[in-house]
Amino acid sequence: MAEAARDGERTFRGIPVSAGVCRGKILVIRRNRPTVTKRILAEAEIPEEMNRLERAISETRTQIQGVQDRVVAAMGAKEASIFDAHLLVLEDRTLLDEVVRAIQHDKTNAEHAFHSVAERYAATLAAIDDDYLRERATDMRDVTTRVLNNLLGLEPEVDLRHLKEPSIIISHDLTPSNTAQLDKRSVLGFAIDVGSKTSHTAIMARSLRIPAVVGLKDISGQLQTGQYGLLDGYNGVIIINPTDQTLFEYGQIIHQQDTIQQKLRDTQQKPAITLDSHRVTLNANIEQAANADEVKACGAEGVGVFRTEYLFINQSELPDEETQYKAYRHAASVLKPDPIVIRTLDLGGDKFLAHLQMPAELNPFLGWRAIRFCLQERDMFREQLRAILRASAEGNVSMMYPMISGLDELLQANALVEEYKEELRKENIPFDENMKIGAMIETLSAVIVADSLARRLKFFSIGTNDLIQYSLAVDRMNERIAHLYEPTHPAIVRLIKATVDAGHRHNIHVSICGEMASDPVLAPLLIGLGVDELSAAMPLVASVKFIIRRLKLTEAKQLAEFALTCENAGEILGRCQEFARQIAPGLFEDE
Ligand code: PEP
Ligand code: MG
Repeated sequence: MAEAARDGERTFRGIPVSAGVCRGKILVIRRNRPTVTKRILAEAEIPEEMNRLERAISETRTQIQGVQDRVVAAMGAKEASIFDAHLLVLEDRTLLDEVVRAIQHDKTNAEHAFHSVAERYAATLAAIDDDYLRERATDMRDVTTRVLNNLLGLEPEVDLRHLKEPSIIISHDLTPSNTAQLDKRSVLGFAIDVGSKTSHTAIMARSLRIPAVVGLKDISGQLQTGQYGLLDGYNGVIIINPTDQTLFEYGQIIHQQDTIQQKLRDTQQKPAITLDSHRVTLNANIEQAANADEVKACGAEGVGVFRTEYLFINQSELPDEETQYKAYRHAASVLKPDPIVIRTLDLGGDKFLAHLQMPAELNPFLGWRAIRFCLQERDMFREQLRAILRASAEGNVSMMYPMISGLDELLQANALVEEYKEELRKENIPFDENMKIGAMIETLSAVIVADSLARRLKFFSIGTNDLIQYSLAVDRMNERIAHLYEPTHPAIVRLIKATVDAGHRHNIHVSICGEMASDPVLAPLLIGLGVDELSAAMPLVASVKFIIRRLKLTEAKQLAEFALTCENAGEILGRCQEFARQIAPGLFEDE
């Protein structure tokens, strides 16, 4: 939405998805979808029409694979795996059979047949209130446009690889394949009408480190190519015709960010210890085995969660036991003697494998996810558990299960671990007999039965990202209810306290590895609640350490006592912010 502002400048506010500030010429991309008209074929034309369809599909496949190869070379396999979903559209038998039927039985021309069938599928997916399925609709429309362009012999209309001058791209939407082709030298940033923080396009923007703002509703209809704009990816703001005063203020913001980064570097390698000598374990979260190499440099002691599903998502084939073993062993031996917590597969929810047909679910976050998936996919789980056990011989490895919702799942998983340990013993393959096993506490039921779980575990790791969404019934990916996703909700504060107390009653340590642990404003509250360890996103470890080193445990406890009696999320957050600014002003201001 545009806001009135000084001297003819116009401000639009959306969702910030990729950090950074840029300014320059606006390039508005209006997508002209290929025009498709219906034609009834003569009987004799049908075989040639079938050939045209086959050729177009095969050309489309080659084009997508080409984009995928370029993305692998530029950014790695993880980002390129997005195109597996596009390729799958071309393999979709139900869709293709319907198109063929429309050509052969209804005698419709190929472009009309493909367009009407694919658009019906896409519209159905887009209407479902689920970010993941809406992304699938975008994938389907992206592929449909390519197929139609090939059938009609048209050039793809958006060629963002060859811009004449560096520009800020404005569009209704950018598909993942458009985004992947953005050239950092000519695309200063982009802003689009639709999207959320977790859309593929947003993920791509962060990967490319291109400043980006999404969810601007109708910005593409309001701006013109050639206008001059400033894009602020920190705050999700676009300013058209910025005044000299605004440009001056932005110069200061950039300077402030640089100064803060410099201050953080000064304390990065010092211990995470409070002013009154309370030691906090500060670890980092990693997604790839290779990230383990960067853990020390970011200031963390070890790894609080290794999200192993990215090892699977990255690959065109499922990684077998040996491949996984090598990855886990690498991470464990790089960090040795410091700890690494390897989390077993957390697939489902918003993380899927293109090559593993997982059924579309109405509520994927409440569905076939994480430990539930693993306990049913025994072969996959066996390979992973054996690989983790084997890696435990090579370093300080612990393992934890995600999304435990009750004791039964824990007992089943533990029984499997015992079975595979026995296998390894018989095979004379070494592993750490005392490898610690923990569980993520991310469901309400897990908090309520935490005592039962704690008796059978060596540690808890609170997954606040999910604990918040499951306890407050707020989808963590839905921007329309993002205001209800409140980490300082009194219920969340009390659930964290209950988990800590249950863990400590049974002498096990309690960590937090959800995004709350990456927020320096909330770190004092979590430490005051008795959390033993924080595991943060790597780029944020330094800020969390900075505040820990300016904190007194006694003050943190007072803050937690206040939060436990307070009835209002905003008030708790306000108190945390006030406290953080008071003890660590340097984290917020250029002083
Ligand atoms: C969490 O839920 O807080 C967590 C760390 O797990 P993920 O974000 O991978 O769901
Ligand atoms: Mg989780």
